[in-house]
Formats: sequence, C-alpha cells, structure tokens
Amino acid sequence: MRLNIYGMTPKKLGEYFGAGGDNPAKAAIVLDGIYRKRIGSFSELPLSQRVTEQLSRDFSFQLPEVVQVLDSSDTAKLLLRLSDGEYVEAVLMRQSFGSCVCVSTQVGCSMGCSFCQSGRLRRRRDLSPDEIVGQVLAIENTFGVKVTGISVMGIGEPFDNFTNVTEFLDIVTYPKGLALGEKHVTVSTCGLVPEIRKYAELPHPCNLAVSLHAPNDELRSGLMPINRRYPLSEVLSAAEYFSVKANRRITLEYIMLGGVNDLPCHAQQLSDLIGDRSFYVNIIPYNPTDADMFRKSSRDDIMRFYDVLKKNGIGVTMRREFGSELKAACGQLSADYTK
Ligand code: SAH
Repeated sequence: MRLNIYGMTPKKLGEYFGAGGDNPAKAAIVLDGIYRKRIGSFSELPLSQRVTEQLSRDFSFQLPEVVQVLDSSDTAKLLLRLSDGEYVEAVLMRQSFGSCVCVSTQVGCSMGCSFCQSGRLRRRRDLSPDEIVGQVLAIENTFGVKVTGISVMGIGEPFDNFTNVTEFLDIVTYPKGLALGEKHVTVSTCGLVPEIRKYAELPHPCNLAVSLHAPNDELRSGLMPINRRYPLSEVLSAAEYFSVKANRRITLEYIMLGGVNDLPCHAQQLSDLIGDRSFYVNIIPYNPTDADMFRKSSRDDIMRFYDVLKKNGIGVTMRREFGSELKAACGQLSADYTK
C-alpha cells in the first residue's frame, strides 16, 4: 500500500531515502515541492526519473474530501470526509494579522468535558498526521489563503494522540515546507500531565495552552472528568515545567460559565493558584451547545472577573468570539456525528 506523502515528517522522508541508498537531503527537495510549489505529481520535482518514479510507486497525494463549506465574514468551517468515511471539521479564522486554522486531532473525543459539544461524542479513532496536515491544506486550497497560525483546538484531545500530533507539528513547522513558526502554532490540552511533560522535552515545542476552566479541584472535577486523574496541582506543575524548559508563557484557558465559575471569589482563587508563575489567562465566552446545562456569563460578570485578575497582576486577555453562527466556535465542533 502507498503511504500518504502529507504524513511524512522531514525525518521519516530522509530515512526513506537513506534506506534506499539515496541522499537523505532529497527529502528537502520533495517537501519544498509539495508545500511551497504545490506540485501535484512527483514528476514535477527536480529529481531523476528513477527517483520520481519510485516516489510515485511509494506515495499518494491524498487529501480529505471537502463535503461542506460554511462561510461568514470572519470565519469559515469545512466538513471533511476521511478515507474511511469518518468526518472531521476544520475552522478558518480570518484575523487582522493573518489566517488562523483550528484543526481536529481525533474523530470524536473521550474526555467528556461537560460544556463541550465534541466531548459528547465518544472517541472513534485518532487522526493520522496526514489527516491533520490535510485540514490545513484543505483550508488553504478552498479559501485561497496562506495559513499563518494554527490552533490545535478542534475536535479531540491532542495529547491523547501524542505521536501523530507531534509528527504533524514537525511537518507544519519544517522551514522548507509550510514553515510556520513554533510560536504561531498552539496545542491546547485538557491537562494530560505525562504528555505535557513529554511535550516539554521536545527539541522545538510549539506553544501550549491548558484548558483550566476552574480554580479548585472540586469544581474542575465536576466539569472535566480528567481532573480526577490529574488534579490541578499536577497540571499546573507540569505546565510550569514546560514554561521553564521551553521558556514560553503558557495560556490558561478559562470558559466563563454563568454562575458556575465566574464569581469574583473564583478569580481570586485563580490568582492565588497562579501566583508568580509565568501563565496568562485567556477568558473565553461560553458558546452554547446542545446540552443547555450552562449559560453565558453576563458582560458585567466577565468584567468583574477580569478586573480581579488584573488587580492581582495576572496577565489576562479575552478571546474574541469567532464562528458561533456557523457552530464553528470553541466547543461547538461535532461534525454532527450525532445526527
Ligand atoms: N481537547 C483540547 C482541545 C480542544 S477544545 C482541550 O481541551 O484543550 C478547545 C478549547 O475550547 C478548550 O479550551 C475547550 O475547553 C474550549 N471549549 C469547549 N467547549 C466550549 C464551549 N462550549 N464554549 C467555549 N469554549 C469551549
């Protein structure tokens, strides 16, 4: 069976050439051809006929099939069909500073966060590296944009698919390929502690965001089942390990759930929890899902929460809302498996 060329990391492609007695540096020529010149056939590469014929025998150029395009002014969403008939979604956010894509990493998700639409699905399978890269290319091809930022925040828990996600990161950050800077790619996790530590050990990790959503274990365990396995103290010390090791500031994501976690006392607890660690808080408005257990916090409650963090010297930003009219906002992706 042929492998998908979009799933080949620079290292694996170099090894492929090396194993066949060729110069591993040919990998750079192939990746430059695919991601920069956007060749559709290996015969377009400046390589000998023997090599291009061998590549054609060994690799395909398969992308996920675009089955639905939803587009509004600043956000667009693609429904993509994978080779085995499963579906995932990818979102484009048109921002003043560039085009950012939000990619999915699994078909379904088994983390079961109570406020998340994707969490209502069971995990059906992991996406392969080529299926994650394919989402970026499908967005670029469909909308004629050059992607300048990637959020690994679509359907799925990226660290529950660690190897494939890190291979995806190697592919999109490769300087002769899509060439995204490590600081322009952010992986968001619900808090899988061993993988946060493993991620910190990578030679060139991208950014990290941690979905916190609550300032104490009781509240967090009620919202996010994963907290029973990895409580807040462990999540935050792993995040701190990453921030020191990679010398990066970490984003703590915090959804504002009206009356649940948005009171001034929660903001104070959160400030105490962070202390003088190099974390900043990204306040996210709650986007409604089919489970209407929660409501959005009022503007006033959000401002009060924000002010307490500010007063305590915590860096805090508010996430702009994208895509709720397309069911493309954070926590709303489901690819409608449920229908
Ligand atoms: N599994 C990863 C990445 C996917 S979710 C994670 O948990 O981080 C991306 C972000 O959207 C997470 O911070 C998630 O908690 C948040 N989110 C989930 N449901 C949401 C909702 N209904 N409204 C707003 N944000 C939501």
